[in-house]
Amino acid sequence: MTELEYQEINALLAVPKKIAIIPHRSPDGDAMGSTLAMYHFLNKLGHDAFVVAPNEFPDFLAWLPGSSSVLIFEKNKESVAAELEKADIVFTLDFNALHRTGEMEHTLARLKALFIMIDHHQWPNDYAKYTYSDTNFGSTCEMVYHFISGLNRHDVLDTTIATCIYCGIVTDSGSFRFPSVTSNTHRIVAHLIDLGVQNGQVHSDIYDSNSFESRQLLGKALVNLVLLPGGKAAYITLTQSELDQYHYMKGDTEGIVNYGLSIKGVQFAAIFIENRDEGLIKASFRSKGDFDVNVFARNHFNGGGHVNAAGGKSHETMSETVHKFVGLVSQLSL
Ligand code: 5GP
Ligand code: MN
Repeated sequence: MTELEYQEINALLAVPKKIAIIPHRSPDGDAMGSTLAMYHFLNKLGHDAFVVAPNEFPDFLAWLPGSSSVLIFEKNKESVAAELEKADIVFTLDFNALHRTGEMEHTLARLKALFIMIDHHQWPNDYAKYTYSDTNFGSTCEMVYHFISGLNRHDVLDTTIATCIYCGIVTDSGSFRFPSVTSNTHRIVAHLIDLGVQNGQVHSDIYDSNSFESRQLLGKALVNLVLLPGGKAAYITLTQSELDQYHYMKGDTEGIVNYGLSIKGVQFAAIFIENRDEGLIKASFRSKGDFDVNVFARNHFNGGGHVNAAGGKSHETMSETVHKFVGLVSQLSL
């Protein structure tokens, strides 16, 4: 984002506007943290800002300040679409292509509003008037902090905005462990804590709010973990009936894919999770080092993401999906 673009956006924001803020479908901690940070920031500037999530967000993010005001598009399509049509500005956060919002894509594509994208995924689509896209950042929340700095509005930062930003930095960095974490990330986090973020409490709200059944589901996932020949790739499967057995709730499988990657020597891990309602298998891919799971997910599983974390889907059965995956892995030189 150039200095001139920040000046133009400041000029736009000089007059109160109706502003919609959109995360990707099945929003995670970074998507919810960044949209809610922006929501509090813009409302404090005197705008009428609102967050519209394409579908429900997981329970482990319900503690985020402002989450109860989030509109859910798929629950109330007509009335939410009518609200979106009134927006002067639309912020799209933590995604790079409108189709990442699912069905809501068609409503967004028709809007006359001015779009601003803030995102850290590769290969952003060109739909926004202002595109702040940079894959060097570990989270969109870190970019929202820089965006507020670019607008010269640190004066508006408060504990609430800082807490939302902190949430996305924590969740997208695996609690500060991924290589995308820089000294600058820690400097920003230091500032957020100075602004009053109860950092210990945030970690506990995110990670210590599991149900008993979800921990048993994790146990099942670990039993299902397969280490492929050569020891460099691993995968986990969870069928719909296994999810049902442990009373699966949205968010219960968050982070399980990383257990494959925690085996010594494994550089590529996947999880395949059946979703009977949507008639598909959701895939998540994680890697260490140079193996690009964004390209793998795009080429073979109709998805995308980042070099070391990506997702996709399969419309085949679980066994066909796994068969395809194992075949593809056998051709890789990991
Ligand atoms: P997860 O595996 O946690 O769902 O997602 C990992 C990363 O890949 C996230 O940055 C997410 O936004 C991205 N991602 C997940 N699923 C898809 C997908 O179906 N398409 C694309 N383009 N990106 C995805
Ligand atoms: Mn993100």
